[in-house]
Amino acid sequence: MRNRPNSKHRIRKPLAPGPERSAIFRRVKQKGTAPEVVVQTLLTRLGVSYSTNVSAMPGSPDILLREHLRAIFVHGCFWHRHPSCLASSTPKRNSEFWLEKFASNVRRDRRKVRELRKLGYRVTVVWECQTKTEGKKAMLERRLARCLEMEEQ
Ligand SMILES: [Zn+2]
Repeated sequence: MRNRPNSKHRIRKPLAPGPERSAIFRRVKQKGTAPEVVVQTLLTRLGVSYSTNVSAMPGSPDILLREHLRAIFVHGCFWHRHPSCLASSTPKRNSEFWLEKFASNVRRDRRKVRELRKLGYRVTVVWECQTKTEGKKAMLERRLARCLEMEEQ
C-alpha cells in the first residue's frame, strides 16, 4: 500500500448528472443539520415547544410550532437561493443545469408556503447564514421572540 501514495488523496472530479449525483443532492438536505439545531436551541431557550421534520404536514416544515400555528423552514442559502446573499452564487460550469435546479427548488418552497398558509399557518424562513455567528444568532433569537409575541396579542 505504501507504493500507492495517491490512492487516498485523489482529487474528485465533478460529478456528471445521474443517479450518483442525485443521491448526493438528496443527502444534502439532512435531518437535524447544524442550522436547524441552532434554531431549535433558540426556540427551547424561548420556552416554546416544537416538532421537527413534520412529514405528515403539507410542505413537511423543518420545525412546527403547533400552538403558535407557525411553521419554520431553515434553508441553505445556496440551494434555496437566499436573495442577495454571497452564499447563493451560481456555479459557472453547467450553469444551465444549476439554474434549472435552483428554479425548481424555489418553486417547491413557494408551493410549501402556500399549502401551509391554506391551513392557517404562518411561515418563517430562517436562512443558514443567519445562524452562523453569535451576533446573528442573537438577532435571530430576537426575531423569533417577536414573531411569537405578535401572535399572543
Ligand atoms: Zn444567506
